[in-house]
Amino acid sequence: MSGPVDVTDTAAQPSAPASHSTAPTVEVVDGRSTRIGDLPVRRVLPRRSRRTVGAWCFADHMGPIAVDEFRTVDIGPHPHIGLHTVTWLVAGELLHRDSLGSEQEIRPGQLNLMTAGHGVAHAEESTNDYRGDLHGMQLWVAQPDGTRHGPPAFEHHAELPRVSLGAGEATVLVGEFDGVRSPARADTPIVGLDAVLRPGASAWPLRPDFEYGVVVIDGAVAVGDTVLVPGQLGYLGLGRDEMTVTVTEDARMLLLGGEPFDEPVLVWWNYVARDRGEVDRAGQDWNAESERFGRVRTKLARIPSPVPPWRTGPA
Ligand code: MN
Repeated sequence: MSGPVDVTDTAAQPSAPASHSTAPTVEVVDGRSTRIGDLPVRRVLPRRSRRTVGAWCFADHMGPIAVDEFRTVDIGPHPHIGLHTVTWLVAGELLHRDSLGSEQEIRPGQLNLMTAGHGVAHAEESTNDYRGDLHGMQLWVAQPDGTRHGPPAFEHHAELPRVSLGAGEATVLVGEFDGVRSPARADTPIVGLDAVLRPGASAWPLRPDFEYGVVVIDGAVAVGDTVLVPGQLGYLGLGRDEMTVTVTEDARMLLLGGEPFDEPVLVWWNYVARDRGEVDRAGQDWNAESERFGRVRTKLARIPSPVPPWRTGPA
C-alpha cells in the first residue's frame, strides 16, 4: 500500500500560506479514485489545486463496497502525527484500535475522533459478523502549532446533535452550525455537517469568516447554479453569510468549513507536518518501532513508513 497521501495528490513541499479565495465562488475540484487495500475511495482533499478547507486537510469518500468473509477492509497499524482523524459512516461497521488502548466499534450516526498530536498509531478492522455495504467518510483535520506537539487522544460520540434545514436535516459532526454545537473536539474554528436532503431548496446560514467545501455522498446537489456529484469538491471560498442548496431527488452531502488555516502544512503519507525533516523523523521513529507511537493490540501487520520522494535521489 502506498499512500494515503502521495505526490499524485499534492506537492511534497509545505503549502504557501493563504491560498484561499477571498470571495464567494463555486470552484469544482475533481477528486481521484484510488484504493486503500481492498477499499475503493474517492479522494477529494488534498488536491494540488486545493490543499485545505479551513483546517480540513484530507477527505476520502470510502465505498460503498460489499463486505463479506472474503473481502474485508482491514488496515493494519500505521502512525499519524499533527492531525485529528474524523471517521463517519453512512453504512457498515468498523472496529478502531489504537496505541492508547482504545477499542471502539463505530456504526452509522456515530463519530470517532482521534487526535495524533506528537504521535499515535491505529488500525481499522472489519467487525467479525458484519455483512453488507461499507460506505463513509474518512477525514483529517490539521492541528495548529498550539496542540500538534501535545499528547494523543481518542473520543467516540454515540450521539450527535441535529439541525433542520427546511428540505432536509443535518447532523453536526464537529464545530457549530446554526447555533447547534457538536461535543467533538476542535482545536481551530471549523464545522463539519452531514446533510440528508429531500427535493427542494433551502438557504443555509454560513459564516463570512469561514471558507467552505461541499462533498456529495449520494445524488446530486446544486449550490447556487453549480451542480456537484460524488467525487468532486465544491470549494465555496470566504465571504458568504448563506448559500442556497437545491436538490431534485434525495441526496446526501457533507459541508466542511473553517477559518482559513494559515500555517504552512506538508501532508505526506499519514503525517501532517510543517517540513520534510518532521516527516523524515516520524518515518524513522515508526520504522524503528519507537515508543513515540506506542503499540496497537491487533493481529494485523504494521504498515511500514515508505521512503519519501525527497529521500530517493537519482539512481
Ligand atoms: Mn489512519
